[in-house]
Amino acid sequence: MDAISYQRAADIGAALAAANQPGAMFIGGGTNLLDLMKGGVMRPMKLVDITHIAALDGITGLPDGGLRIGALVRNSDAANHAWVRERYPLLSQALLAGASPQLRNMATVGGNLMQRTRCPYFYDTGFPQCNKRAPGSGCAAIDGNNRMHAILGASRQCIATNPSDMSVALAALDAVVRVTGPNGERTIPFAEFHRLPGDRPDLDTTLQQGELITSVDLPPPLFAEHSKYLKVRDRASYAFALVSVAAALQMDGNTVKSARIALGGVAHKPWRASATERALVGSSLDKLSLQTAAALAVQGAQAQRDNAFKVTLAQRAIVRAIQQAGGVA
Ligand SMILES: Cc1cc2nc3c(=O)[nH]c(=O)nc-3n(C[C@H](O)[C@H](O)[C@H](O)COP(=O)(O)OP(=O)(O)OC[C@H]3O[C@@H](n4cnc5c(N)ncnc54)[C@H](O)[C@@H]3O)c2cc1C
Ligand code: SF4
Repeated sequence: MDAISYQRAADIGAALAAANQPGAMFIGGGTNLLDLMKGGVMRPMKLVDITHIAALDGITGLPDGGLRIGALVRNSDAANHAWVRERYPLLSQALLAGASPQLRNMATVGGNLMQRTRCPYFYDTGFPQCNKRAPGSGCAAIDGNNRMHAILGASRQCIATNPSDMSVALAALDAVVRVTGPNGERTIPFAEFHRLPGDRPDLDTTLQQGELITSVDLPPPLFAEHSKYLKVRDRASYAFALVSVAAALQMDGNTVKSARIALGGVAHKPWRASATERALVGSSLDKLSLQTAAALAVQGAQAQRDNAFKVTLAQRAIVRAIQQAGGVA
């Protein structure tokens, strides 16, 4: 049995000081970290409980018309907040598509950003090969059961996907992650927060050791009228995405003025479909134009033995999500 110490931090300064030692980790709702600890996948030596830090809680408006969501805001509270529902319905939908009501009541925004992959070989320490859990050990999924795994941006080291629904919406909305740590405060554009695996699949994000997420900032809302989070999964609830799409449009009559499309369930990070976005601008929402634009999102896709279906599914889900965002389906 491992000895673990526990410290409840009263403020941000105390949290940073407590986390400034090897083996220390922050704990929010605990819905992911405790499972990983129970399975022996992660073995922190010290837990720094941040759930009593008032400065990390709450949702506030920003001077530019955007919104700041504190890292401690529970997923349910973020999803049901009036401003989020009215101004960023895409984010509300994505949050409500995740997990279960009980889990959403516990899970925090910061923890959701940091949740680990759901690759079964990562969770099962009975499999010695997992570069994410044990760097250099290999990847059991490449020749194993890889139906849930990545089709875009993977490497020979790791083909895992990022499981967060919330993060797909935040990627489409161009959110910014605010963090503070031993070297002070900084902001990380959402596209740079999560990593592709490359040869360091053990690193999911660009957060540095000891850094604390303080909030997620949303730019002024542009897409409240025309957005949709579509999640395709094996069960109607309590299941991770096979493929998900966050679609956000600005329309000028029947013509797309601007578009943001992000995909979940296909890569090690939320995947922005930039070529699809560019192709949509100036186009109408007829099916052929949407199918042509959707095909661009999976250019270069590399399917594994069990997940070639995702290449087709992703395109169909993109078309469907855009139609629903644009009110034509
Ligand atoms: C059965 C089940 C089904 C689920 N289904 C879904 C689903 O469909 N979609 C989905 O998106 N998610 C799903 N989840 C995952 C769930 O959303 C996450 O477990 C949750 O969001 C994690 O938040 P938490 O606050 O509990 O994090 P914790 O477990 O407390 O922490 C997770 C990680 O975040 C770090 N951390 C926490 N807060 C901070 C911070 N402020 N700064 C820096 N690091 C921090 C911790 O150190 C830890 O590494 C599911 C979970 C379970 C158990
Ligand atoms: S896909 Fe990644 S997480 Fe899964 S076994 Fe391979 S290295 Fe581990």
